[in-house]
Amino acid sequence: MTANPAERLQEIRTRIATAAREAGRDASSVRLIAVSKTFEAPEILPVIEAGQRLFGENRVQEAKAKWPPLRERFGDLELHLVGSLQSNKAREAVQLFDAIHAIDRPKVAVAVAGEMAKQGRRPKLFVQVNTGEEPQKAGVMPREAAAFVRHCRDELGLGIAGLMCIPPADEEPAVHFAFLAKLATELGLKELSMGMSADFETAIAFGATCVRVGSAIFGSR
Ligand SMILES: *Cc1c(COP(=O)(O)O)cnc(C)c1O
Repeated sequence: MTANPAERLQEIRTRIATAAREAGRDASSVRLIAVSKTFEAPEILPVIEAGQRLFGENRVQEAKAKWPPLRERFGDLELHLVGSLQSNKAREAVQLFDAIHAIDRPKVAVAVAGEMAKQGRRPKLFVQVNTGEEPQKAGVMPREAAAFVRHCRDELGLGIAGLMCIPPADEEPAVHFAFLAKLATELGLKELSMGMSADFETAIAFGATCVRVGSAIFGSR
């Protein structure tokens, strides 16, 4: 790894562009979410100053403490919640985030829909799919995904932009990315949030529109 986060950011951007080109895609069709969880403002600032504007956090409380002051300094930041959401945090999540990647239960979907109506905010929404059917992992089961997306759309009036997954640690991620891409196509969804530090190039080959990269930029946590 090179010395500092700003240099690593540049390397990741180059690797994204290469992976996109190899997949016959335009590099601008892949957005990089720099996942800054556990890192504080002094570590995040050099990455903002290197031009990165899109960041991801996995906890509402942590983001709430960290980002409002940074957003005051940099008006064009975009913040995504990439971790799972409890319904009792829906109000704060809708207030803070421009996108929520892990809608995975009717209760959470209902709470988010209510807050969006109340606050007049429209964060972009993704449904997380537990493609590996792991009991400890968040996400709707693959066989329930279509019905859940329809429930969000048709009964709650929630615009769902795309699907998100985190493949099992000990399996070939390509299988999971291919599955998620197929499911999104079947459901008419355009966005795919998939790929992390270890596998974002594979995810791009399978159509990722957002890659969520943390440790390869900020270092190990
Ligand atoms: C932490 C996290 C990431 C980034 O993981 P790295 O392996 O550090 O790149 C991506 N997505 C989610 C949901 C995360 O919680």
